[in-house]
Amino acid sequence: MTFKEHVSLASHTTFMVNVSARYFAEVRSVSDIRDLVTNPLWQSERHYILGGGSNLLIRADLDGIVVKNLIDGIDVVDEDDTSISLRVGAGVVWDDLVKWTTERDLWGIENLVLIPGSVGGAVVQNIGAYGVEVSSVVATVEAVDLSSGKELSFTNEACQFSYRSSVFKSSILQYLVSYVTLRLSKSAHPVLTYPRVLEDLQARGSAEHPSPKDLAEVIANIRRSKLPEVGEIGMAGSFFKNPVVTREQADELKVRYPDMPRFDLPDGSVKIPAGWVIETLGYKGYRDGNVGTYDKHALVLVNHGGASGHEVWNLAEKIMNDARESLGMNLEPEVVLLP
Ligand SMILES: Cc1cc2nc3c(=O)[nH]c(=O)nc-3n(C[C@H](O)[C@H](O)[C@H](O)COP(=O)(O)OP(=O)(O)OC[C@H]3O[C@@H](n4cnc5c(N)ncnc54)[C@H](O)[C@@H]3O)c2cc1C
Repeated sequence: MTFKEHVSLASHTTFMVNVSARYFAEVRSVSDIRDLVTNPLWQSERHYILGGGSNLLIRADLDGIVVKNLIDGIDVVDEDDTSISLRVGAGVVWDDLVKWTTERDLWGIENLVLIPGSVGGAVVQNIGAYGVEVSSVVATVEAVDLSSGKELSFTNEACQFSYRSSVFKSSILQYLVSYVTLRLSKSAHPVLTYPRVLEDLQARGSAEHPSPKDLAEVIANIRRSKLPEVGEIGMAGSFFKNPVVTREQADELKVRYPDMPRFDLPDGSVKIPAGWVIETLGYKGYRDGNVGTYDKHALVLVNHGGASGHEVWNLAEKIMNDARESLGMNLEPEVVLLP
């Protein structure tokens, strides 16, 4: 295993902030991971795992080892008349997998089209969009325990999936996800909970019997109208999670802000869209030097070019303070913050 030294991470993350890694290594197989964890340098340095870098804000240079996961491959491991199981390398680009499955008329991840990043990152973050979370199709996850080098297999339940989280994100033990097995359906299961998706399918005349590809195309078009392309501007998608407040707090806010969208949850709490919070605080399209929020989507914090990780984080803190003081709401970052 060879380590590169003092490697710029700007091109490895979608925020494109100019930070570097003291040591940088790429892994393409489980045997590469084993080589890595038995290397003497591994024992003495901190380590960080990188997929597509699309959900990370790196605030300063990383004084340790950054491992880029490039484990490849999509293999059919089980198939019957109604379903198919795919074992996918965690370094596969998530959207390439969505294309692979929709081209073969397989159902399950078509609503998650155009989400940047790797298959490993998708599972760690339990990505979600347009009424679907990846946890609904994950059968098993293979990972390597980075302290012992042991290979482990996690059932869906053992992954402890929750809103934008999993055991791989929250655990104090560090795992490198190596392979993910997804179970997809051969029969139609369109998730059409978002009215705009149904309207756009109707406009194309494919609302009655949409294919996974129809759905992916419609959703991709909606996403393109709202979000910048990766590389066009520095950002990591939604910066904050949607805050959850008590019903009493939501009722009080609704009196002050009658247009406030709210989603009542089964446990009695209420989810408020973080984008609404940021817009209400007056930050939509806000700019301060090199940083700001995207003009079409307030929840996307952007690096207009040349921003440091700390500048982006200072803006995030300013928004979090305002949300607390003006609305009594705690905004939590959805992006992973390093260091
Ligand atoms: C334009 C844009 C739109 C987006 N839209 C959405 C959306 O609609 N829904 C959504 O949920 N997210 C969205 N995201 C966020 C992001 O794309 C996802 O969270 C993605 O899954 C992150 O994957 P990644 O490989 O880039 O992970 P990274 O950003 O590289 O890493 C994220 C975290 O996962 C860990 N990690 C990555 N790979 C592994 C691995 N193999 N093993 C162990 N840990 C690992 C990292 O250490 C880090 O803690 C968007 C981002 C952008 C830039």
